[in-house]
Amino acid sequence: MTKTVRDMDRPELESVACRLCGRRNTRPYAVKFGLPLVKCRSCGLVYAHPRLTEADVMKRYSPEYFFKEYLPVFRADETSYDLDLVRGHYHLYLQLIAPPAAPGRRLLDVGSGAGFFLKAAEGAGWEVEGVEVSTAAADYANRVLRVKVRRAKLEDVGFAPDTFDVVTLLDTIEHLGDPDRAMAEIFRILKPGGRLILNTPDLRSLSRRVLGKSWAVLTPAEHLQYYTKKTLRRALEKAKFRVVGVRNLLNFNAEYTHDKTSRRYRWWKRRLERERTKKFLEKAFWIEYTDLVRLGGGNGDADSARPGFFKRIKRGAYMSAKRFLRGDVLVAIAEKPL
Ligand SMILES: [Zn+2]
Repeated sequence: MTKTVRDMDRPELESVACRLCGRRNTRPYAVKFGLPLVKCRSCGLVYAHPRLTEADVMKRYSPEYFFKEYLPVFRADETSYDLDLVRGHYHLYLQLIAPPAAPGRRLLDVGSGAGFFLKAAEGAGWEVEGVEVSTAAADYANRVLRVKVRRAKLEDVGFAPDTFDVVTLLDTIEHLGDPDRAMAEIFRILKPGGRLILNTPDLRSLSRRVLGKSWAVLTPAEHLQYYTKKTLRRALEKAKFRVVGVRNLLNFNAEYTHDKTSRRYRWWKRRLERERTKKFLEKAFWIEYTDLVRLGGGNGDADSARPGFFKRIKRGAYMSAKRFLRGDVLVAIAEKPL
């Protein structure tokens, strides 16, 4: 997926101000594949600067990438896909959108890729549509999945205001050239009381610390900004959303590295396998998951009764461990106030 900039002939780079606070007061953060990441001294956001131009970023969402790298992740091919696998992949987000209370409720997925999430949401009773910049992906969604996806940038579509009950932005915000503009547009097209559900990698993840620069999330050619709980909350508030919750999910993908020869990677992988047998991580994962589902207003698998005394103590212990133990993914739920 990741080419070094050396593969392109002398890419043109563009200078950008902080994607969150608009200032230009940075310190170097890292250099990866020849492209720099900086950290804003004012708000703490880490972002690519100077970065590839939009035209060069777009080249990376090629049909070749779509068919050879994206579809295989979902074990799909040019004509078929496995909806059960899709439902498993998006289980949390399907719980968060909960079945709509009335027919005709509308969901928009921004950066909808092949449309797999849309297809699953449609099956749960939503009236769905998507926007996607990759021509191959948008075409696949329309042709193979038969869900409506426009090949466009969200800001260029011009949806009517107050149109959607839910907007999802999954594994997408880190790719956007202008996340502020996209958030403002999502706010505009949501109905009052409507919700935005988004996820993105957590820059404070333990994986980032252990794997260092080889953590595969750090790819300045396509991941243009990197959030923490604090900066993500700030981005949502800046767009006038009421933040219902921002949570870190305690799951780790040891394979998500650009250097499988490193000792750190081998150590991390062994460590995670050992943890798996102790089940600590798994239990802590479900605590946060259940909280999120409750925040989302669904009941799903969530146990809504007040937990007993010992359960509360255990839960307290998990939550304090979590101050240090951050997983790979941040999930946020935000609402357009009534
Ligand atoms: Zn800033």
